[in-house]
Amino acid sequence: MAEKSNPQNDPLERKSEWVNHLLEDVQQDAFSGDERDVSGEVSLVDQHEADIANVVYEREQEETMRQVLQRDAAQIEDARKRRAEGTYGICVDCGRPIPPARLKAMPEATRCVECQRRREEARAGPAHPDF
Ligand SMILES: [Zn+2]
Repeated sequence: MAEKSNPQNDPLERKSEWVNHLLEDVQQDAFSGDERDVSGEVSLVDQHEADIANVVYEREQEETMRQVLQRDAAQIEDARKRRAEGTYGICVDCGRPIPPARLKAMPEATRCVECQRRREEARAGPAHPDF
């Protein structure tokens, strides 16, 4: 905790960098996957249908990963805006302060634990793991 001016010590900025980095990786993987299809490995895939299934599965995984990361990136962007407005760390639903431990673990959080849980229960959509 020595370098106070270092943005690397800002959990929100650090997470933002991390998410953007992963997002780049996933997008690059998708591109290199497309190139691979026209540049040789396609013959291997032709021989084994299981491999095709595997490739499709990996792409689906990448797509899911990309969606989760894009959602994270959007939440981080939101948290940044809220910080600029001075409302960062305040639950958007109940208006109470979000516990520091939660913000440390999840700097992009815009809701306290109870409100987040209520929201997720209400939505009851596909559950994505939060990193
Ligand atoms: Zn709340």
